Formats: sequence, C-alpha cells, structure tokens
Amino acid sequence: MTRGQFLTAMAFAPFVRGTSSGVNAQRLRQRLEELSLHGRPTGGIFADGVSRVAFSDADVAGRALVMRWMREAGLNPRIDAAGNILGSRAGSDAKLEPVLFGSHIDSVPSGGNFDGDLGSLSAIEAIEVLNAARETTRRPLEVVVWTNEEGVAYNNGLFGSRAAAGLLDKGEMDHVWNGVSQRDALRKIGGDPDKIGSARRGPFRAYLELHIEQGGNLDRQKIPVGVVEGIVGIDRFDVEIRGFANHAGTTPMPDRQDALIAASELTIAVNQIVRREPGRQVGTVGHIDVIPNAPNVIPGLVRLTVELRDLDKAKVARLGREIQDRAQKIATETKTAVVFTPASHHEPALADPKLQTVIEQASAKLGLKSMRLPSGAGHDAQSMAHIGPMAMIFIPSVNGISHSPKELSRWEDCANGAAVLLESVRILAA
Ligand SMILES: [Zn+2]
Repeated sequence: MTRGQFLTAMAFAPFVRGTSSGVNAQRLRQRLEELSLHGRPTGGIFADGVSRVAFSDADVAGRALVMRWMREAGLNPRIDAAGNILGSRAGSDAKLEPVLFGSHIDSVPSGGNFDGDLGSLSAIEAIEVLNAARETTRRPLEVVVWTNEEGVAYNNGLFGSRAAAGLLDKGEMDHVWNGVSQRDALRKIGGDPDKIGSARRGPFRAYLELHIEQGGNLDRQKIPVGVVEGIVGIDRFDVEIRGFANHAGTTPMPDRQDALIAASELTIAVNQIVRREPGRQVGTVGHIDVIPNAPNVIPGLVRLTVELRDLDKAKVARLGREIQDRAQKIATETKTAVVFTPASHHEPALADPKLQTVIEQASAKLGLKSMRLPSGAGHDAQSMAHIGPMAMIFIPSVNGISHSPKELSRWEDCANGAAVLLESVRILAA
C-alpha cells in the first residue's frame, strides 16, 4: 500500500463514534495517533510507522503518556520491578482474583502503530467506558503494559511477562546491549533490578490480550474477530553441512562434495515435508551462510537454520525428525556430512478453552463474527499461560502485514476489538 492509498483507506474508514458496548472509537484512534508521535521518523506521518524499541527515549516518552492516560482513567499506575506498568480498578469483592488485561507499547525498529499499542490503549479504553457508565465489576480489574515484548533490546523478548511468570534466565540482568546492562536499562524506565523477584505476580482470574493478527487469515476471510487457540511452539535448529571446498574449474562434477547442493536440497525438503500433510504447520530455512562464498570455489561449508512452528508440539517434533532423516539421505547422495544442533525449543502456549468461549460470547453479543485460529507470532500471553488461564483476541491486519510501517488495521476493526475486550472483561469480572 502506498502512502496515498493508506490515507485514502483512512479517510474512507467507517467513522464509528461509539459501539453498542460504549467504546469511544474516536478517542481510541486519537490516542493511537498521539502515541505514534513517540518514535515516529523525523518529519514523518502516522503511515511512516514507529521505532519505539524498549528502553529507548521514545519508549520512555510513550510510557509516560500511557501512564498519564491511566491516571486520567483513575488507574493510579505503578511500575513494578521489571518495569511493567500496572493499574488497578477496584471491584465490589476485593477478595476475588482480578481480571488482568493489556499488551505492550514497545516496537521493532521501523514497526507499525498497532502491534501492542492497540491492546494497551484498548485496555485503558475499557476502563474509561466502565467509569463513564459508573459500572462496578464484581472482580477487581488490572491493566498491564509489559516491558520489552519485542526483544529487540537484549535479543530476548517478553521480558516483563517472563519476569511476572518467573521465567527470567539466570544472569539476564547482566546482559549488555548497546553498551548498557539490562540492570541499568531497567532503572531507566523505573524498574528495580535488585528486587526483580518481586515482579512475580499473584493469581488472576484470566489474562486477556487484544492484538492485531499480524497475518492475513481474518482480513482474507473478512472476519472481524479472531479467537486465538494458542501460540504456536517453535523448534529451531542450527544446521552445518560439510562438503569439500575445491577449485570450481578443475573439479569434475562427479567428484564434487558441494555443501550448497546439499543445502539447496534440504531447503526444498523442509518445504515439501511441512506441506505434504494438512494443517497450519509452517517450516522455514531463513538464514544461510555459504563458505567461502566465492564464485570460483565449490562451497565447502554451509550453515543454515531450520525453524518449525505449530500448536501441536508432537507434530513439530515429528516434522523435525522427518527432516533430519531426509537430511541424512541428502548427505549420502551428495557426499557431505549434515549435523543438526537444536538451537531453541519453545513449547506451544494453549489458550484456555473456557476463555475462548467467553470471547465468542462477547463477539456474538456485539453482532461480530468470530473464528478460531492459532497465533504464529509470540506474545506476552504465552508467559501468562504458565501461571494462569489466558486468551487472546485478534483483529484483522490489512494484507497480513506487520513489523512494518505498512502495518495497518481499520479503525472500525480496532474499535470492535476494544469492544470485544471490554465485553469479555465484563463477563469474566461479573
Ligand atoms: Zn505485539
């Protein structure tokens, strides 16, 4: 989409003042636009996206703005030791576990203005609506904006939610990125690295997160609400293929041990093996190094990555084995050696089935069609799944684009998502 098309899409986007749930679509839009100023390229417009990497000055400014809005909504925001921003609204029964909901506001470099921001500002919008209606829920409510979801800083995401779930790695406070330790970065945003254990949170009735889909399923099928079944598990392998580097002019074809031929066949095999059965599993060879990478030398060594994702961890494991078996056959045929080393393993995080039903009920009440789908991207909700029931609401991403300035969701869909979040909170907090 060009900037012109983007502006046209914005101008003709249905102008929704309020929905049956009371969500103020105009306020939500204005806040998304105002937040987008923090990290916007100099001289740019909304459609130029945002660079609000966690712990940057733009992040600090964005967090201050969000805390101002939380204060205005009576949420009395506080910052926990991990830098997470939390704000509570009392329920009529203080003894009950709260309903927790929110998202993040950090971005990737040259990211979009909806990833994270929508869920964070919709959470505040939900509180505004309840305030305006003088509506007291039975359970307490808690809004959260997590620290460093994207993990651009320190190359490790979901920081705040992992701290809340007790999933931080040993020594993580000492990691250094851009010359600054994680410890000092946390201090910059008001966290307390010396008391990081205190960020572990107590029980909650449910964790809900509204987010853009970041894929094209909802947009393609024109369905306004996605009910997330879970966040896919990811298995990543580092693969080394050893052949023999030799003269590209003097080595006859039958005598070659070309590591790049083996790598090419393996890349095709990953695609074939992943595609030959039904399901939403995906597999990717996304990184490759060819050594020595010279025009007149037969490639002697190739390093590449294989990544597999699905909600079903048994399927991910089986696909990984099948790919490794095929790799050994390729090695024999090409007279190379192929070695797979597991690089990382992330378990799938399943959404709570009852909470999925609640989101479906909330959508139906608002007259919005919904469909269930997995999340191919990681989210803070997967940390929360370790310590309590979680669920996520997706809204369409135009053309499925995300982590790009071209990331776009229609304002109407944003407001609908906020309304579904609010209705789900109402049901769960009753
Ligand atoms: Zn996100």
